[in-house]
Amino acid sequence: MDQNIEKIKNILEESKNIVLVSGSEVTNEAGLNGLRAEHMVYDIEEKYGYSGEEIVTSQIYSRQVELFFDYYKEVILNRDKPVDTTIFDIAAKLEEYGKLKSIVTRMVYDFYQDAGCENVVNLYGSVEENRCPACGKVFGSRYIKKAKGTPKCDVCQVILRPGFTFFGELVDNTRLTKAADAIESADVLLVLGIPLKSQAWYSMLRYYEGNKLILINTEERNGDDRANYCAYGDIAEILKEVTDFEYKEEDRIAAEKARKEAKEKKEKEAKAAAEKKKEKEKKKAGAKKK
Ligand SMILES: [Zn+2]
Repeated sequence: MDQNIEKIKNILEESKNIVLVSGSEVTNEAGLNGLRAEHMVYDIEEKYGYSGEEIVTSQIYSRQVELFFDYYKEVILNRDKPVDTTIFDIAAKLEEYGKLKSIVTRMVYDFYQDAGCENVVNLYGSVEENRCPACGKVFGSRYIKKAKGTPKCDVCQVILRPGFTFFGELVDNTRLTKAADAIESADVLLVLGIPLKSQAWYSMLRYYEGNKLILINTEERNGDDRANYCAYGDIAEILKEVTDFEYKEEDRIAAEKARKEAKEKKEKEAKAAAEKKKEKEKKKAGAKKK
């Protein structure tokens, strides 16, 4: 076995605080196009007269909404093959055993969540969260795909707003902070499918100051030497190799307990907040009566 692979495997086996950053090559390898669909740039220019990056903007959405949704359905939601879930399944297992703390991605699909991952930050939002701007009702990707022409809210008949951020728009601040915090506090930063010099990720990856930055990508790129350990090739296959260690049952039990406690704490807090709000409203109503 490759020395680097062995070393990466040891690091992952030992850590209980891995943060995974999932890039566009992961989306491509899984069989999806992403928002930009960089690998089909010529076909897209030919069909639409714009690049993907130009189409996913508020300008096109507001001025050429039919074109926007055609691209949404035919490119963003289209797959050339069934989705390969290997990477997502491995991430879910690492999370289940308390090894993986968070996943940060610009991917707009919920495949990590579908595999069972709970701590996912979709920086750019999700194709599963399209919203009616009038009533706020949320519609998933199937509704978009099935709609004849431009998808509208089934209650208000208003054209839906996509669940992802347009290019040229600011990414939601809460999501950014959550991602930055996770990366900053990571023991191991596991970067999949991103050239380390990538403009899109540069400012985010900067938050990691540790010395266990592992990069797994399809091919080597200029600037990758920032990583402490690299492996190149089929991302899913490499990930399978480097996580092929013994998972400990006691780790799973401990992680399950921690998840349960966190959930209970959250529920308690939500309940307390709701009661407080109720109390406040009661007081308000009482004051009005007087
Ligand atoms: Zn509506």
